[in-house]
Amino acid sequence: MSALQIHQFPCLSDNFGVLVHDPATGSTVAIDAPEEAAVQAALTETGWHLTDIFITHHHADHVDGVAGLKAAFKPRIVGPRAEAHKIANLDVLVSEGDHLEFAGHKVDIIDTPGHTLGHIAYVIQSHPVVFAGDTLFALGSGRIIEGTAEQMWSSLLKLASLAPETIVYCGHEYTLANGRFAMSVDQDNAHLLQRMTHIQDLRAGGKPTLPTTIREERATNPFLRATAPEVKAAIGMAGESDLAVFAKLRQMKNDFRG
Ligand SMILES: [Zn+2]
Repeated sequence: MSALQIHQFPCLSDNFGVLVHDPATGSTVAIDAPEEAAVQAALTETGWHLTDIFITHHHADHVDGVAGLKAAFKPRIVGPRAEAHKIANLDVLVSEGDHLEFAGHKVDIIDTPGHTLGHIAYVIQSHPVVFAGDTLFALGSGRIIEGTAEQMWSSLLKLASLAPETIVYCGHEYTLANGRFAMSVDQDNAHLLQRMTHIQDLRAGGKPTLPTTIREERATNPFLRATAPEVKAAIGMAGESDLAVFAKLRQMKNDFRG
C-alpha cells in the first residue's frame, strides 16, 4: 500500500475539486465533481486516470461534472444512499458503517446530515484524511439547508472526534469570511488571531487556505468551540447547552455582515 497523493484545485466561483491518487495502482478518485472541465484539466495536469468518483451530497455544484466524467472515463461512482433519488449515475450507494476500498486503502463512511439530509463524509484512516464536503469548513460550518441544528451539531461532533492529525478537505474556499465571523465571537483566542494572520497572507497571495486539520479546527473554529465557556459568554449564553450555543452561532453567522 503506497502513500496517497492529493491534488486540490479551484473550480466554479469558490468550490474546490480534489483528486486522490495511488501511485502503485494508478487509481485516482475525484472527490465530488463540481465541474467537468476543471476536473478534466486537473487530470491532464497530473497525468492521472480517473477510476472513481466519491460524491458527498446532491447539490449541483458537487455533481454537475458526473455525467461527462462518466462518459469519458467509466469510473466507479459512489454516493450517499439517502440521496440516491437525487443523484444520477451512482453505481455504489453507501451510508454510515459502510466501508469502501480504494487502491488497498480502507475508506470509512460517516453520515453527516444537516447541510443536506443525506450528506456523507469519506475518511481514509491510513493517510489520515477526511473529505467533509459542505459540513465542516475551515473556521466554519455548512449552512443548514435541509436538516436541523441538532443534526448538524451531531455531524460536526463526529468529524471533531476524528484523530487530531486528520487532514480535512472541504467543498469551498470560505475561510476569510468565516474568519471575520470567528473573530467577532472569539476575539481573545490567540490561536485564532495567529491563524487569521496566516489566512490573510495566503489569500493576499492568491493561495488556498485548505486543507486544514481537525486539530486546527478544534482550536479555532467558532462552531466547534460552541463548547467553550468563553465563546458562550461572548454571545450572552453562559451556561447554555452546547447545542443551543451552536444553533445561535449558526443563526448569527447567517445574519453576519462583517
Ligand atoms: Zn452543498
